[in-house]
Amino acid sequence: MKSKKTSILVVDDDPAALETLAELLVEAGYRVLTATGGQQALEMLKQQTGIDLIVSDLMMPEINGIALTKEIHSMELNIPIIVITGFATIELAVETMKAGAADFITRPFNNEQIKITIKKVLETKRLQKLAGEREFYKQLSNRDEMTGLANYRSCHETLEKETERAKRYSRPLTIMMIDIDDFKGCNDTYGHLAGDAAMMQIAGLIKKQTRTSDVVARYGGEEFMVILPEATIEEASFVAERIRQAIEAHPFVTEEGAPMASLTVTIGLSSLPDRASTKKDLIRTADIAMYKGKTSGKNKVVIFE
Ligand code: GH3
Ligand code: MG
Ligand code: MG
Repeated sequence: MKSKKTSILVVDDDPAALETLAELLVEAGYRVLTATGGQQALEMLKQQTGIDLIVSDLMMPEINGIALTKEIHSMELNIPIIVITGFATIELAVETMKAGAADFITRPFNNEQIKITIKKVLETKRLQKLAGEREFYKQLSNRDEMTGLANYRSCHETLEKETERAKRYSRPLTIMMIDIDDFKGCNDTYGHLAGDAAMMQIAGLIKKQTRTSDVVARYGGEEFMVILPEATIEEASFVAERIRQAIEAHPFVTEEGAPMASLTVTIGLSSLPDRASTKKDLIRTADIAMYKGKTSGKNKVVIFE
């Protein structure tokens, strides 16, 4: 897919300079619009939506380059501006950059230099947009990228909802905190990639032992939470024990398929309404149970009492 031509608005009060620069940019393959002053440039920006970049003279009557830069910045158009100055002073450059200019060029400029500067600024804008989108979609997503399980944020949302529901209808709700035992050692021995591979296998094993109505989440680095709506602590502890055994018996392999030593997990359980009364309490007590398991030998299921 070939995208449309990049549009550049060139602003200069000197018609000859404006024409020279416009010609240069047309030759370089850009669509070029021109304005003979800051006011005209602003008018055009209000009407035109397709402008990707502005190249403006710094010294102009009425609205100069710095004022134009500030104005464009306050309009939040997100259009980078490169200013051109005939007075090569650092102070002026700094002031312009502070006002939000993407870059500046000193006159007389070399044709190649201006083309390179434009390319650089456009590339920076493209990368910023990409990074912004990626971050945006990451925020929207409720999945953990590595394991495909629910992520921390979505785990909290579900737990909030389920806690409310359980309380309103006086239904049981149990959660499990699962932490991999001595996982640091696994990373140290086999490397971080093998650790990641093992973690994905554990995620799959937990998922396999739970019902579709249960929510399995990656809660932290090597910690998982399982939310079991409608499950009593007894029912959930059977599931937890199955998970513990399945992991203990699993022949783990590295990312390249080479065999690894076995891994185990420690699981802490707590439930509504008898062990906790709020979401926060539920997490806290499940955590306490899990840590009790850690300090008493690991590879076990502990119910908060
Ligand atoms: P314990 O039995 O007390 O839980 O010991 P541990 O080594 O598992 O616990 P510790 O909290 O000391 O270390 C957790 C380790 O988990 C350290 C960290 O490098 C590793 N880890 C956390 N997240 C990831 C991950 O996404 N990938 C990999 N490979 N390792 C991770
Ligand atoms: Mg941990
Ligand atoms: Mg651990």
